[in-house]
Amino acid sequence: MKVTINGKRFEIPAGRTILQAAQAKGIYIPTLCYHEKIGALAKCRACMVEVKGSPVLNAKESPVLLTSCNTFVTDGMEIITDSDRAVAAQRFVIDLALSSGNHDCMICEKSGACELQDAAYFLKFEDKDFRKGDYPANIDDSSAFIRVDHNRCIMCGRCFEACNHIAVNGVIKTIDRGYTSHIGFDDNLPMGESSCVQCGECTQVCPVGALTDKKSIGLGRTWEVKQVRTTCPYCGVGCQQELHVKDGRIVKVTGMEKGSPNKGRLCVKGRYGYDFIYSEDRLTVPLIKEKGAFREASWDEALDLVAKKFKEIIVKHGPDAIAGVSCARSTNEDSYQMQKLFRSVLKTNNIDHCART
Ligand code: SF4
Ligand code: SF4
Ligand code: SF4
Repeated sequence: MKVTINGKRFEIPAGRTILQAAQAKGIYIPTLCYHEKIGALAKCRACMVEVKGSPVLNAKESPVLLTSCNTFVTDGMEIITDSDRAVAAQRFVIDLALSSGNHDCMICEKSGACELQDAAYFLKFEDKDFRKGDYPANIDDSSAFIRVDHNRCIMCGRCFEACNHIAVNGVIKTIDRGYTSHIGFDDNLPMGESSCVQCGECTQVCPVGALTDKKSIGLGRTWEVKQVRTTCPYCGVGCQQELHVKDGRIVKVTGMEKGSPNKGRLCVKGRYGYDFIYSEDRLTVPLIKEKGAFREASWDEALDLVAKKFKEIIVKHGPDAIAGVSCARSTNEDSYQMQKLFRSVLKTNNIDHCART
């Protein structure tokens, strides 16, 4: 498809939306409800652009305003993302969102990674034009891991899609209509009393500071943390994670949106169960129990003792008196080696893996 965007000519593969085409060419269009994983909801209307040559709305000649997230590029289309009319339409939506709650960025955990903040900055906002009243605090702190600040919610709809159609947990709903509408959990229960399984998929897609990870609050701004890709250590699925690290310490974990097999999703353990890394109770050396008490040992001493005990059992009762269960936190290679040890060296097929049960 040969198109022009803001007067520049581009060739765009068929099947792309205007938003995808613009993003691929490094042209920013404000969005709030659009998320690559969720697709075009076309709810917020922040991504309006002027389009000439579109087959819709008989708009072959005069430019019309269209939502770029769900309008597909057609050959010969002229797209203007930064005309006075397009910018006025974008500003109107961002103004409404900014005016709809307490957007006090200075104390918001999301500041620096907030898509509403990005849009307002791009559109050079100096103030908001609509209601400027005070909003009484409306925070749901009932969940163990997620903080809900209703005053920062812009009702974009991403969390509904994430919970109901991506994580398929069916917890988040719209409660009420019109000005008082807000997100709710089950039949408008506090999040911590609902059927929420605290997978955190909703926090991962929320564009603003309405849903945030409690464990990370105050531990590091987005520009202070380094992101390190790793594989979740908990089970054999091998979900890809991003560790957010500040001063050598993990302050947050998110799923890798472009990583397989999980594509951003994590379970409650993978996303929030990282305290064990810094636990003082964590074993760092082998322990041998003697006369009812543990003492520290070297690896050589501990493994020699295990080998000696195995031999004694095999001589006395035969190899099938021994069984092994490999741990799901181990790598596939380690699990392979363990079954090899049991089958080839100890001569028993009594070997299993905890993730299979
Ligand atoms: S949600 Fe975004 S715009 Fe609102 S206070 Fe937080 S950083 Fe600012
Ligand atoms: S944490 Fe998971 S289950 Fe709970 S509301 Fe969010 S997406 Fe739904
Ligand atoms: S909580 Fe976040 S994702 Fe959900 S509707 Fe509000 S702003 Fe959108």
